[in-house]
Amino acid sequence: MLPEQVIQAAQANNVRLVRFLYCDNGCTIRGKATHAAFLTERLTTGMGLTRAMQAMNMLDVLQPVEGLTAVGEIRLVPDPDTFVILPYAPHSAAMLTDMQTLDGQPWDACPRSFLKRMRDRAAEMGLTIQAAFENEFTLVRPDGQGGYAPIDEGVCFGTIAFDESALIIDDIIAAFEAQGVQVDAFYPEHGHGQQEMPIRHAPDVRAADNQVLYRETVRGVSRRHGWLASFAAKPFPHLTGNGCHIHFSAWDNQLQTNLFYSPSDPYGLSELAYHFMAGVLHHLRGLLALTAPSYNSYRRLQPHFWSSAYTAWGPDNREAGVRAASGFRGHEATSVNLELKASDPSNNPYLALGGLIAAGLDGVTRQLDPGPPALSDPGLLSEDERERRGIRRYPTTQAEALDALERDDVLMAALGPTLARSYLTVKRSEFKAFSEQDLAFELKHHLYKF
Ligand code: GLU
Ligand code: MG
Repeated sequence: MLPEQVIQAAQANNVRLVRFLYCDNGCTIRGKATHAAFLTERLTTGMGLTRAMQAMNMLDVLQPVEGLTAVGEIRLVPDPDTFVILPYAPHSAAMLTDMQTLDGQPWDACPRSFLKRMRDRAAEMGLTIQAAFENEFTLVRPDGQGGYAPIDEGVCFGTIAFDESALIIDDIIAAFEAQGVQVDAFYPEHGHGQQEMPIRHAPDVRAADNQVLYRETVRGVSRRHGWLASFAAKPFPHLTGNGCHIHFSAWDNQLQTNLFYSPSDPYGLSELAYHFMAGVLHHLRGLLALTAPSYNSYRRLQPHFWSSAYTAWGPDNREAGVRAASGFRGHEATSVNLELKASDPSNNPYLALGGLIAAGLDGVTRQLDPGPPALSDPGLLSEDERERRGIRRYPTTQAEALDALERDDVLMAALGPTLARSYLTVKRSEFKAFSEQDLAFELKHHLYKF
């Protein structure tokens, strides 16, 4: 959208507030809103934000990070292309923003600018990464005792659960349609109250922007029904976790051809796809700190829960870190893709996808080989067998994943020192805070904040 079109759309819809949104190092979504009267000027100037916000954790406790203190500002500069009227808030609209320095340069602690850098790195290699964040989320309602309970006890893909959520799901789809986000499908999933509604893939930054709009929309609409939608990885420890699998494929820069597809391979994958996948697997233990980043994420990443727990890949293998998704007959060239299972919706989509691209491109540059596919659950192989095949267990805590990230030179260099340092500090502070408290504290905060 052009800036003039944004102004016109805001006027035509009697918008009073326009939210300038971002996703932070704690992976929560935050923003500031301008009154519509100042929209024209703020489309270019942006809105002021204290630099300290990128040192704030998900408990809203400021962490000591050099340069991110009470002194100093950045600007949240909106991308007019992302303008949407919010269907779940009166007279409100929103845009996604980049964090910029006062002189208009990308700020080096900005997650969206990090993804743009990785997009440009891919483009130089002739690649555009398309992605879809495939969310599972849990619909809950107040349980009358100060907590929340799932809205249904239905079975996976069960029609009782379909009926339980039919009204709210219809409203969510309508809200997506109003914002130009194309829903692909819907089904109640395995956990009680768990829903899955995939949307269509889109190029890199747009895919991550869509993920922010997705979380906002599902939560916003649910609130209007008096329910809460949670994107926590494991809102109820005894039930199935919420994944946010990242489907990805590399295309030429004109988006004409799926370069991950090859008709001559048994799994429909090209050399490029194998190298890219090998890079993702090679860096996966550190990448997890970006794709499954919360304290609560590590309750989900257990063997035999279809969330994946090992650095393996396999065709349609739902226990492998990367699933080679089979194409649809007659549409293979457009539907073959790879799916990172080791990702959940408590992540910052810009950091998750940017990290995935950095890892994959490293695999392409170094022509890495992912080895033979896992044709069974890697968790059922013996330790020796896994070692022989180079299949490694994931870190089992947030702290271990953060250490693996810090040891990963490729991912650290891609993030750059300011983003890497602030992210590690913020996320380590969350690990400390949640390890000092009980399970109820962890669940309450993750269920509510994500
Ligand atoms: N709920 C599973 C997860 O935690 C995924 C189930 C599926 O394959 O859709 O990722
Ligand atoms: Mg699912």
